[in-house]
Parts: sequence; C-alpha cells; structure tokens
Amino acid sequence: MTDQRAMVHRETDMTHSDVLKAAGFSEAELTGGDLAVHSPIDGAEVARVRQTDPAEMPGVIARAQAAFRAWREVPAPRRGELVRLLGEELRAAKAELGAVVTLEAGKITSEGLGEVQEMIDICDFAVGLSRQLYGLTIASERPGHRMMETWHPMGPCAVITAFNFPVAVWSWNAALALVCGDPVIWKPSEKTPLTAMATMKIMERALKRFGDAPEGLVQLVIGGPAIGEALVDSRDVPIVSATGSCRMGAIVGPRVAQRFGRSILELGGNNAMIVAPSADLDMAVRAIVFSAVGTAGQRCTSLRRLIAHHSIRDELVSRLKAAYASLPIGDPRQARTLVGPLIDHAARDRMQAALEQAGKEGGRVHGGRSVAEGVPQGGAYAEPAIVEMPEQTAIVRTETFAPILYVMGYERLEEAIAMQNDVPQGLSSCIFTLNLREAETFLSAVGSDCGIANVNIGPSGAEIGGAFGGEKETGGGRESGSDAWKAYMRRQTNTINYSAELPLAQGVKFDI
Ligand code: NAD
Repeated sequence: MTDQRAMVHRETDMTHSDVLKAAGFSEAELTGGDLAVHSPIDGAEVARVRQTDPAEMPGVIARAQAAFRAWREVPAPRRGELVRLLGEELRAAKAELGAVVTLEAGKITSEGLGEVQEMIDICDFAVGLSRQLYGLTIASERPGHRMMETWHPMGPCAVITAFNFPVAVWSWNAALALVCGDPVIWKPSEKTPLTAMATMKIMERALKRFGDAPEGLVQLVIGGPAIGEALVDSRDVPIVSATGSCRMGAIVGPRVAQRFGRSILELGGNNAMIVAPSADLDMAVRAIVFSAVGTAGQRCTSLRRLIAHHSIRDELVSRLKAAYASLPIGDPRQARTLVGPLIDHAARDRMQAALEQAGKEGGRVHGGRSVAEGVPQGGAYAEPAIVEMPEQTAIVRTETFAPILYVMGYERLEEAIAMQNDVPQGLSSCIFTLNLREAETFLSAVGSDCGIANVNIGPSGAEIGGAFGGEKETGGGRESGSDAWKAYMRRQTNTINYSAELPLAQGVKFDI
C-alpha cells in the first residue's frame, strides 16, 4: 500500500492560490477577514474571509422580502430562465468550481467535478419544472362548482448547508426555490465559505445576463450558528432548509416550528447494506468500497453498516480487506487517489475515538490508522476501517462521519431488516440479492424504513431526479427531484361557483 501511496503523491500543477484566482477571487476577498479557512489537503490557511455581522441580518432579510414581492409576480417560466442561465454559467465554470470544492472540502477531483455536475443537473430539472408547477382540478360535490388547487410562491427561503456537499445542496434548494418564486438566503458551513463565494460569482453572472431580477434575490451570509439562528428565528423567512448533523436539526427544527415556519431538515444518516446469500458478490464488493470509503466516508449517505448473511460473511470480509489494502489514499488532486483527507484533525480524532469504542464493545478492527507517509503533510488522512462486530452495539448506532464500516451477520432476512431499521437515523439503505422475494420484501411496507431504499446498488450517489431525504432523526425533509418542489410553495384550494345558486356543502341549509 505504501508504494502505491508514494506513487500518487506528486506535486500538483496548481497552488491553492492559483485555484482561487482561477475561480475569480481577488486578493482583497481572501484577506483581512475574521474567518480563517483551511484546506483539508494540507491544513494550510488559504484565506481569511469576512463574516456577516449579526447586526446586518435584519437588512439581509428585509432585502429578501422586498425581492419576494417582485419575484412572485414574474411568470414561473421566466423565473426558469434565470436558472437556465445559472446552469449555463455552471457548465462554463465546472472545472474551476470543482477545483475549489477539492481545495476546501478535500474531495477527489472526480467527486468535486461530480458535485458541480449535480448542480447543473438540478438546474436542468428546475427549468423544466418551471412550466410544470401543476395543481389539481378536483370534482366538486355541488352543481355548477369547480374545485382546484393552485401553488403560489411562499417567501424567502434560508438554505443552511453542511461542509461535505458545500455547493450541490445549495443548488438543490436554490434552483427549486427560484423557479417556485422564492428568494434565497444561503448560509454555508463555516468550514466551506469559499465554495459558496465562488458559486455566488457564478450566480452573479447569471443574474447579470438575466437583466431584471430584483436586488436581494439571491444572497450569501457567512458565519457560524449565530448567523444561521438569525434566519431560523425570523418570521420573515417562512422556509428554512437546513442540512447537517442531527444535533443541529434538533435545535433548528423546534425553533422554526415555534414560530410556525416550515423547515426542510436533511440530517445525519447511518446507512446499511444487506448482502443476501444470492448476491452478486463482485458487484457488492465494488458498491461497498465506493459507498464506504468514497468522499472518505463523509457523505450523509455513506455506507456505515454491512449486514451480511452468515454463509457469505467471511468471504465478503476477506474480499473487502483485500480491496481496502490497495486503496490509493492521498492528495485528492491526484488522478489515482480514491481516498482523500478528512475535513480536519478533529474529525480524525472522532474516528479514532469511535474505533477505540468499537473495540471496547467487542469489535475486531481492521485498518483505521492515521496515514502520514505519502500524503501531503498537515492534512488528516486515515486508512478506511472495517470493524467486525458481534452485534449492533451503541457505537454502530451512532453516525461517525468517517470511513468506518461495521460488519454484522444475520441468518433470516426479517432479522437483517430489523437490524437495518434499528438505528435512530433513516436516510439510505440497500440490499444486494438476486432473489425477487427478498428484494420486494426489502422495498415493501415491512422492509426498509428509510427515505431511500435501493436494490443491487449502494446507498450513496443519488441522482437528482428522485426526492432526496430520510425519516426519523434524518429529519423527514425531501429535496431535489420528484415533487419536492411543493415544499417551496404554498398550496391554495380554490372553489369556484359558476352557477346562480349558493348550495352549501354537506347539504347544510341556512336560508335567510
Ligand atoms: P453541522 O451540523 O455541524 O453544520 C451544518 C450547518 O448547520 C452549518 O452551516 C452550521 O453552521 C449550521 N448550524 C449549526 N448549528 C446551527 C444552529 N444552532 N442554527 C443554525 N445553523 C446551525 O454539520 P456538518 O459537520 O457541516 O455536516 C455533516 C453532517 O451533515 C452529517 O451528520 C451528515 O450526515 C449531514 N448531512 C446530511 C445531508 C442530508 O441530505 N441528509 C447532506 C449532507 C450532510
């Protein structure tokens, strides 16, 4: 493994400041601020950006409200034109923005580019959607009456995002919110303000080409929880879409509810794969490795629990150990690297603490050591770990945001499904089987309790066409495709009387 790591660690052509310059940053934007930004690649401080002063937040929200009053009157297909232009600008800037994602979030180049592609995809989706914000026509029980429902813009939408998808999550929300008639206020993770600032430069270009969008339609605020809370607590922000940890959602959800706002919560996952005796193990191994170690285990949909049938468990574990042994770990900018750094040293400390705890709970740990050789110095690199567990203990039921894969065994499918569901989170899940009965049972009402349930494909790497989100402590929100747009609009039920009578529903008489 060491040899391969040495091979993949070469100096890259572009320095951090080259990457930021190519994304359009000026020296002034990157210096003099009070928020230090570090690259997980080597821990280097790459910028000091200015944080939004909490005192500025009422002005930001007022601007969004003013923008709403104008934007809601713009026909939805015309609003779609802005998102179409955003998609075009993103296509043109894909390489530059992808490189900033790699720089600031530590994703390997291909995943950085993939994240921007996801932004482009949701723009395309939203443009089509701008002509399809359909309501129903409903049969009325009264003669000469017609019922229908109409979807209207809702108001400013706050988008609070996590570090691990620093730009795609914003676009899932923003592309839909904008076609739905809602201004957007974005508060990115304090760990990834640069990707947000680079995205705003691209948005500005789209706005300029669009021409007459109201000022304040798309705004960016930089800072930590205090800035987020100003949005969470404001009655002038009817929608709060918050992506991050369950801990954050447990604070944000009740606070938004207290003022009768609408929240879209996309929180932690603890995703499992069941591998049945009939599974195609070659495919399963590939899916497991991608979903457990991709993005260094820092996807909300990362595979964290493997529930393998006793008859194939040992073979699967030995094949996984062999695959893990040859994983190129290192500089995410190098083409061959598959496992980049964790976001910071604290994340690696949490990984080590979880592995220690797993050992105490009876787990046999393979891998998981810190990696210092053949990787850029200053970053938090670690070998992905496989941990064979005697049962699903407390640490397995906790989301540790790192490449740790816990392996448990099962005998009967019902037992496997019960284990898969017996965690507080409910985001993504999957089964590998060639048995139709098992596959359909897994997808049925007595199967997986997650928002996402797949067959013969891993739990991560969702496409934008489906609604994305999960149940239980994952928060219940849905974003992206399908009819997730409805969360960004208010539904109005209309009854129209085109008769000359005034009959009452349910046969009620009220003659005056
Ligand atoms: P985090 O909870 O630390 O932070 C997420 C965002 O919430 C940040 O912008 C942060 O500043 C903000 N925040 C924190 N406390 C807040 C408060 N009290 N009020 C308002 N805003 C507040 O999460 P993270 O470490 O950046 O991201 C990792 C977590 O996000 C993991 O748990 C992962 O599973 C989850 N995640 C979920 C999804 C999903 O779609 N379900 C997607 C990506 C990440």
